[in-house]
Amino acid sequence: MHPLKRRFEPVLLDRYPTRGMTEELKQRGNFPDYVPMFAFPNDINIVSSDQRPRSTWHGFAMTTENGSKLHAICVIIWIPLNSQASDELEQRCEEWRKDNMTDEERELAASLGERLAQERAKLSQLLAQLPNVPSGSESREQLEDEISAVEEKIGLMNDLLRPVRHGAASKIEGLTDGDTGFWIPRAYGILGREANMTSFWKEWLKAIVVPMTEGGVQRIPPSSPRMGVWQPIERYVMNLCTEAFCPVSSKTQVELAIRELRLFARQEASNELPGSRNTDLYALFRALSVPNIIILFEYALTESRIIFLSSHTSMLYLATRALVDLLFPIQWAGVLIPVLPARLVQAIEAPCPYIVGIERRYEKVELPSDDFVLVDLDADMIESTVQPTPLPRHQRRKLLSLLQMAAPHHSRCGVPTGPPAYAIETYPWDTFLSESSATYSSKAPPTNLAKYVGLNSNAFGSTAVVPNSYNPPIFNAFLHARNEQSLSRGYSSSKSHERPGTSSTARASASPPSPRESSPTSGHFPPPPPTPSSRNDSGMALQASLREKRSGHFDAASRRSSSFGMTRRPSAPFLGHASNLSVTTLNTDNGGSTYAPSVYAQSTIAASTIVPQAAAQNVNSNEGTCWVEGHFFQTQPWDDKLICAICDDRAEEGMYKCSSCKLTVHNRCASQVCLVCDAAFHPDQIRAAFVRCFASLFYTYKKFLVPATGDKKKAGLYYTFNMESFMKSLPHEHAEYIAILSQTQGKSNIS
Ligand SMILES: [Zn+2]
Ligand SMILES: [Zn+2]
Repeated sequence: MHPLKRRFEPVLLDRYPTRGMTEELKQRGNFPDYVPMFAFPNDINIVSSDQRPRSTWHGFAMTTENGSKLHAICVIIWIPLNSQASDELEQRCEEWRKDNMTDEERELAASLGERLAQERAKLSQLLAQLPNVPSGSESREQLEDEISAVEEKIGLMNDLLRPVRHGAASKIEGLTDGDTGFWIPRAYGILGREANMTSFWKEWLKAIVVPMTEGGVQRIPPSSPRMGVWQPIERYVMNLCTEAFCPVSSKTQVELAIRELRLFARQEASNELPGSRNTDLYALFRALSVPNIIILFEYALTESRIIFLSSHTSMLYLATRALVDLLFPIQWAGVLIPVLPARLVQAIEAPCPYIVGIERRYEKVELPSDDFVLVDLDADMIESTVQPTPLPRHQRRKLLSLLQMAAPHHSRCGVPTGPPAYAIETYPWDTFLSESSATYSSKAPPTNLAKYVGLNSNAFGSTAVVPNSYNPPIFNAFLHARNEQSLSRGYSSSKSHERPGTSSTARASASPPSPRESSPTSGHFPPPPPTPSSRNDSGMALQASLREKRSGHFDAASRRSSSFGMTRRPSAPFLGHASNLSVTTLNTDNGGSTYAPSVYAQSTIAASTIVPQAAAQNVNSNEGTCWVEGHFFQTQPWDDKLICAICDDRAEEGMYKCSSCKLTVHNRCASQVCLVCDAAFHPDQIRAAFVRCFASLFYTYKKFLVPATGDKKKAGLYYTFNMESFMKSLPHEHAEYIAILSQTQGKSNIS
């Protein structure tokens, strides 16, 4: 076996409360075993890569000794393997090469590696000249052409090297980030009882992990006493675990600070749908088409054995959460394991209803012989050996039409199916974006659920939303915080910058502080760097990141934001995501995949692999308009006050503005828009559509609840349900369906 294919068992490095804190532990309950196994469901392997592998995240749920549920979110980052271990590993790889590769292959790999290093050095030289050449001049153009030529060459050589990369040394001078080219993963996570705090935890973790990526997250303003400075991680942990209490009811919210970020945690009210403020529905609805979601729903209602399959661990978690929430008021009574570790994968043979998620990269998965439903979240595919029991025709048609209006992103806005970028990586496009913008707003978003439940069904979709009430998504939480701050001077005390703990306050949401909507204001921006002459390029991703490097603006910012005094090698040539292709290839057997094959499988793929999708969204692309992730962009007339929401640079010719949410971006940044437009996806309406479906299935249900008598009353029941007469009251097809449902456990739980 190639040394890099070896898997290691993950271990717990540290935790809070620590083992010795008996008092704390008594209060919080014992720390469960097996946490590392759920954080790394497929164990750990060392990865050889020229660039730091991409950070990923996921959630999972565990059942403790006493049967209660624990929920967890973790963020995984990659850190360089220490040099001693690396030397040893490199030696073993060399031995493997001698035993397993022909001389020709090894020579080819070695010479390609050398030439690649040379080209890289050349590129870095050329890039260094850029700032000194005035933009627009002839020599500038020449220089840019030269750069493009070298880039092309590097891309070509990367392609050639890929199949034999494991034949070259793991580190290639000038090509490899980090000292050794070997990386190991580390997970930071939060474990707790509150299922509806998970999206808050995710944002919190994302924020505290930023300094550990050593500049890997871009466009974070430099740490400064005025804006806020990074604290040691221990400080943040204490703040979260001991200083800030968990919001106890929907009436309070708790504010935590991380540098200039303000994060708000809140509970749902008891009369709200479970998960309606926390559970992300978009990931499931992006991955699967609406008709497939209804089929999935039908399988779940009849308690099937449902296996989610994805290359992205977080997608398994997101889909499970969404599905279980949408089943309300029926409670999923079967087994529920959002992320099933590879070591426990035999559990899918259990002869009982379950919903489990397994990763595509698990080896030796044996599917049950029959009666199971395999849901491929990457390919929008559901396979099963059994037919689903369809909803009664009337309810099914209604649900379909409501969902199509509430979630028009696939059908009308050209969003392709597949996991969203935020399910694939922690920081898509190296940015700190957030799919749960409510976390960063002091004002809890209003819920329109009640309204939608009662609404005439023709009025679903955009027509049901107050005009101009859409907000652009948050593509950079730090910029969002800056804009919020400048709007609310005096709101946050300056103290909080030094001591994040003191600012954790509870505020009654009944009288929240005055709304601070995000609307970019000018005046606080750093002087814009000279932007190179606009080029009409197709390789947007590459160009965009190159531009950043050229301007020197963000590189400097990210360098300074590293709190541990580690700087990026300034001369390291940088090609954005594209150069991730040079990753060692061992698993070439994932044929047909659109992802760059790599040792570490798809979970750490480069964001650039999302680009072809994004570009393909240009449905109905007339002159000057295009669709990206549900945003309908229109080219704007020249306006120098516009600021790009993605890169924070000033306007250039041909800015795009979304006609619904007013998101404004550069033409060249449009491909990085990976959060859905409010106008293309209405989670509240989706929840309402399901509630209405259930209401319609059970609408006369209450009439048949009769006071309990005799034995049943003695057994503690107040009411019994007269199933027989309920069934008789229903239309034939409907009655048949209820008969099937009544066989399931979930149904008996609600009665
Ligand atoms: Zn929009
Ligand atoms: Zn931009």
